[in-house]
Amino acid sequence: MKFFAVVGHPLEHSLSPTLFNAAFKALDLDYTYTKEDIGLSELKLILEKVRSGEYSGLSVTVPYKEEVIQYLDELIPEAKIIGAVNTVYFSEGKVKGENTDWQGFKDALVKHTNLENKKILIYGAGGAARACLYALKEFKDNVFLTNRTEAKGMRLSEEFGVTFVNKDKLPDVDVFINATSASLNPKSRNELLVSEDQLKKVSIVFDLVYGETLLTKTANTLGIKTIDAKEMLLYQAIKQFEIFTGKEAPIEVMAKSIGLSH
Ligand code: NDP
Repeated sequence: MKFFAVVGHPLEHSLSPTLFNAAFKALDLDYTYTKEDIGLSELKLILEKVRSGEYSGLSVTVPYKEEVIQYLDELIPEAKIIGAVNTVYFSEGKVKGENTDWQGFKDALVKHTNLENKKILIYGAGGAARACLYALKEFKDNVFLTNRTEAKGMRLSEEFGVTFVNKDKLPDVDVFINATSASLNPKSRNELLVSEDQLKKVSIVFDLVYGETLLTKTANTLGIKTIDAKEMLLYQAIKQFEIFTGKEAPIEVMAKSIGLSH
């Protein structure tokens, strides 16, 4: 028997247990995947449970992807550059951290559009935005970044070599990526982040928060193509499954478990 969990807060919306338990069942593995909805002060203790073998692996989600790094023995190079970890496991006597979000994001995005010569705006400067920036590194000349806290957005833009823009003076772009957690918070759930006039000029909206948000609802009403955030969840989980188990992920089963066709 092996135990895995997703660690974060809030976790009511998390589909990861559904996704992983469906995959474990399909491969007849005696593994269980649960949720650990914790406060920051409990993060260290959960990481100790990976070292002791109580957990064989953890998916780390909002808001701990950066915080978790201090408790790891080793970071896989990509996670080091991104500066955020969403996958934790024990190997060769070390608690290791890896990032599969960037690959999940890229796989989902390129499935829907060719990025050559497209102008792309990322809204947000947290762990998810960092993964998006890494995934888009070869297109960085066409990538813009904005953030509520300007100084943080500016620092990140400089680090990844993209152009920082003020959130009230957004440029016209082809692809709008919402990498903020604004819609998870009841206080900001009804903020669109971008004006409708601005949105009308966009051809693709990718809101990383799954479920319908005000942004995806408005985009759909305006006839703009939206990418389902569950696709990113699926593709990052496929990589994570392979890291956790060393086995090929049952992609169809995982997709179906969260209502996607692959
Ligand atoms: P972080 O907590 O690291 O960062 C949150 C970001 O959201 C910051 O840039 C913050 O701005 C911004 N933000 C929060 N509230 C508001 C608001 N009211 N208005 C404008 N900006 C706001 O979170 P993550 O980067 O880890 O995750 C971001 C989102 O992406 C989450 O909702 C998460 O669920 C989703 N996600 C989805 C994945 C998927 O597979 N589909 C994978 C990874 C993440 P500031 O700097 O000003 O505080």
